[in-house]
Amino acid sequence: MARKTAAKTRKRPTKKAAEDVNLLHVVHSQFERAAAGLNLAPGLVDSIRICNNVFAFKFPVRVEDEVRIYQGFRAEHSHHRKPLKGGIRFAPHVDADEVKALAALMTFKCAIVNVPFGGSKGAVAIDPRTTPVDVLERVTRRYTFELCHKNFIGPGVNVPAPDMGTGEREMSWIADTYGMMNPADINSFACVTGKPVSQGGIAGRTEATGRGVFYGIREMLTNPTATKKFRLDPGTDGKTFVVQGFGNVGYHGARIMVTEGGMKCVGIGEWDGTISNPKGLDPDRVKAWQQKKGTILGFPRARSVTNPKAFLDIACDVLVPAALENQITLANAHRVKARILAEAANGPTTPGAEKILLRNGVAIIPDIYLNSGGVTVSYFEWTKNISHMRFGRMAKRFEGTRERRSLDAIEEATGINLSADMDALTRGPDEVDLVRSGLEGTMVEAFEEMLDDLMNAKRSRDLRVAAYRVAIAKVAASYEALGIFP
Ligand code: NAD
Repeated sequence: MARKTAAKTRKRPTKKAAEDVNLLHVVHSQFERAAAGLNLAPGLVDSIRICNNVFAFKFPVRVEDEVRIYQGFRAEHSHHRKPLKGGIRFAPHVDADEVKALAALMTFKCAIVNVPFGGSKGAVAIDPRTTPVDVLERVTRRYTFELCHKNFIGPGVNVPAPDMGTGEREMSWIADTYGMMNPADINSFACVTGKPVSQGGIAGRTEATGRGVFYGIREMLTNPTATKKFRLDPGTDGKTFVVQGFGNVGYHGARIMVTEGGMKCVGIGEWDGTISNPKGLDPDRVKAWQQKKGTILGFPRARSVTNPKAFLDIACDVLVPAALENQITLANAHRVKARILAEAANGPTTPGAEKILLRNGVAIIPDIYLNSGGVTVSYFEWTKNISHMRFGRMAKRFEGTRERRSLDAIEEATGINLSADMDALTRGPDEVDLVRSGLEGTMVEAFEEMLDDLMNAKRSRDLRVAAYRVAIAKVAASYEALGIFP
């Protein structure tokens, strides 16, 4: 791609400055950069920026012969829409600022993709990699009990979802605990999303964030205005990428980029090292290896190094950080060799790094847009739960029959025999088809809205500023409707 031109202008930082990497400060500085150009009343800007409330609590759980105290959080950033929505993170070093920052990102994410929820986020300070499953279950259930107790969870109040270190299993424990505590609530399944399909989940939720990441990258590489603006070689086919973090988002994103986008995965970074192969890595095979061996290292016919940051040095068209925040910093941004930085993780790029990348001609697809596929499909799941019906159930047969009639007419008029394809063409949409098309439409529309702001608004300087501007304007409109701001 246009790697040559970017490489010519790439500059190393002259000195290493200490950088403020507190995620809440980072999110606030991104917010301010965008809000400054929107001419909103100062009180309104403050109302949108601040986190409304944080529930920080400690709770005891019996582990073998002792009682251990765990630290939990649930932050509610904005109540301008109900319920509030956001994942639950299990990680050893979470703190209140991190959870508040992630809750704010949820508010803006929901606004960008027109999901009518306020932003929230939760966490437990625990290492899921080293904690036995029975302890994880007791911790998750007790955490849910605490949320119920303080009205921080419920189908119309606050609806958690998976995030780093949690998945279907934890969401299933949460739904079950909430259901036990609210036996008369017929909407109790809607208290959490990302559940297994057998427990009220929706087909396509597990892969949704990764699939959304693919759609966002595909738009960047195929939308003619975007490719012209960012001087990109159009098309996804044959483009190389490197992914950091091979969990839910990283794996599904990589799999879909390869299978549906025709892209080539040339490197994967994990917490214990990096693997690479310029000829391409098969994401499914790497996942199977990781599950069997507990690491991606040693994957056959790939170069393995124990340096987790070595992924930064691999030449590629698209770099996809999909692990955690603060990965691309002032100290290492000059090493990025990609033309596109696709922020699948939340907050992977520090403001200092962003300046260097933009100066070096790297196009950044911001997190608040790119990883919003998860919350989009969570919205579909919540809607399914409160409507008590699977998507496609009413229309599947009707649509199939209508297709069949059209194809019969085409066969009759043209004499072409379509019988070989008839079953595939007339089966009517299943839930997963509707979820995928709903997600695709959402990601394409949101990209166009963001790009339109970038191209047409004077103070929209890059895609992150454009994404925040679009989000802030929508949240502001709902605050303004209250009539309390001058
Ligand atoms: P996950 O726990 O499934 O996967 C994270 C992966 O990153 C794991 O494989 C882990 O081993 C790896 N990792 C941890 N530390 C690392 C390090 N220092 N270097 C390299 N790899 C490391 O989590 P996930 O759900 O895939 O979330 C990843 C990111 O995406 C997070 O920032 C999360 O907030 C964001 N996100 C997730 C969702 C979702 O639906 N799961 C939605 C939106 C945003």
